[in-house]
Amino acid sequence: MLTIHCHRCSRSHVVGTRSIVSMHHTSEGPVAYVRCPEGHLTIETFGHRTVEDTPTPEPTTEIPAATSLAA
Ligand SMILES: [Zn+2]
Repeated sequence: MLTIHCHRCSRSHVVGTRSIVSMHHTSEGPVAYVRCPEGHLTIETFGHRTVEDTPTPEPTTEIPAATSLAA
């Protein structure tokens, strides 16, 4: 079971996997075409990440000197 949001009905529905019309693997994650109980086709995305979700390492000003590694 999964929760979908239908923009034509303007509401969310809980549907079973039988409502999935097709599923596709894209470079940005899985995408499913799902029918709402009223028969409208919706597009559901799974596992999509945004730039804001991506952790960014803290900038560092300390760079070890190459000569200290050679000793
Ligand atoms: Zn609908």
